Amino acid sequence: MRDLKQILLEEIPEFKAKGEVFLKGELGKMDFKKVSGGFGVYAHRDGKHFMIRLRILSGVLGKEQLVAICNLAERYAVPMIHLTTRQAIQFHKLSLDNVCKVMEEGLEYNLYTRGAGGNYPRNVAMSPLAGLMKEEAFDVVPYAMAANGYFLQRINTYHLPRKLKVSFTSDKADGSQATVQDMGFVATLKDNKPYFKLYLGGGLGRNPRKGIPVDRLLPAEEALYALEAMVQLFTHEGDYEHHHKARVRYIADRMGDEAFVNCFWKYFETAKVKGGLDFSPEMPKYTKVGKRVEINHIAITSQKQEGLYSYYFHPLGGQLDYRLLRKISNLIEPMKDVHVRLSMGEGLYLVHLNGEEVQQVAEALDADNYLLGVEQTRSCIGVPICQMGILESQKALRAIVDYFKAKGNIKESLPPIYISGCPNSCGVHQIAGIGLVGNKKKIDGVLTGIYDVYMKGKCTVGETHLGELIGEVQEDQLPAFLYDLASKIEAAHQSFDQYMEANKEEVEQLLSK
Ligand code: SF4
Repeated sequence: MRDLKQILLEEIPEFKAKGEVFLKGELGKMDFKKVSGGFGVYAHRDGKHFMIRLRILSGVLGKEQLVAICNLAERYAVPMIHLTTRQAIQFHKLSLDNVCKVMEEGLEYNLYTRGAGGNYPRNVAMSPLAGLMKEEAFDVVPYAMAANGYFLQRINTYHLPRKLKVSFTSDKADGSQATVQDMGFVATLKDNKPYFKLYLGGGLGRNPRKGIPVDRLLPAEEALYALEAMVQLFTHEGDYEHHHKARVRYIADRMGDEAFVNCFWKYFETAKVKGGLDFSPEMPKYTKVGKRVEINHIAITSQKQEGLYSYYFHPLGGQLDYRLLRKISNLIEPMKDVHVRLSMGEGLYLVHLNGEEVQQVAEALDADNYLLGVEQTRSCIGVPICQMGILESQKALRAIVDYFKAKGNIKESLPPIYISGCPNSCGVHQIAGIGLVGNKKKIDGVLTGIYDVYMKGKCTVGETHLGELIGEVQEDQLPAFLYDLASKIEAAHQSFDQYMEANKEEVEQLLSK
């Protein structure tokens, strides 16, 4: 890996030179994006500042890396850290100089940014509590980490038509959203041996689709051959001409599901003949001695390791002041084996806490933890930061929470709300109970911000369902619409699903108010 770091370090001056040309206005924003995305960097909408995305391998963040992130954020005056919807950490509002310094210094701590954007295999996602959950087929951590290693070793060499998203799930709740990725691995046991059920060609951008469930199970130790097969399939069968139709799912659309899956196995057999990707996982050993406590707390989950717990921390909108991250880092520093697992929902888990430690953590962090009702709403970064965005999705999130709080009732009757500031779906709105997508249209001759409203999305192994578009609501009326809906569901003493089943028309009327 040392050679790779040297290669990546040597790339930085060239990247910086491109950035300087962009800042002078001599390189267009789309042309710069084509280059910068591959370095995990995107220019802000103001054309002067930049975001850099740290590729936290499957969201697993050790104490040393956590300290390094706090130090980088402090040293380069990062005003706000963003925890993303895919187990990454983003620094925003940086100068070009500081972006390059973060890139360079991060490498010392295995904090990679290469391929965190652009047409590259992205960070491999993983069920955040893999290896710790009582209900899981087997621990997928070593497999996800091997996949990360496989991609990273080659990261500067890829020439793919578009990005490639891969994830590993070990739980029925599909904690890594494997059923809607370009390639999803879902752990399963057959004859007490570990296999993966594959889901291929899914994705949540424009023209979303669920992954195709593949009948033939993959022996778990052949996971890297499957990755190689997908890379080769994508490279050889993908569309390099039409950017908006270049994701893996369009190959499946073009070929048809059965032919696509057969094509995948053809590349798989070729990879197997070539060899070199055999892999025998070293399963993690969890040796910490736990301490049981009687506890009933919304953020705390018992691990399968006796007397150990995880604590979920969710800053509003995934926006985290670095001083709070420092507080978390200091808090867990003396605690044996405790580390961070980033969630797929703009939050983080602190894991391997014994009973005493989890109580200590809850006491220290509860006041800054947003877990009740609409506080759990997720939102992409949106305008005014994102160049591609249409609406200010983070502002919408805060408006919703403020409205509910002003009414004195945070309400628990709504399902999770996910907001994307434009149809690019970074807020994964298609798999939310309520998904909102920023858009604009003329109303009475005035260009007006609206949210398209999707409902009944879900991401669970075997039950994944993409939300259905049921209407739209003007941006400024969004909080009131949601509050009215929550109130009606409460009054009906029904679950959201039951209510929608019986009252879809009434909801549509609320939308047309
Ligand atoms: S969904 Fe749109 S607005 Fe939100 S971060 Fe992605 S591109 Fe930007």
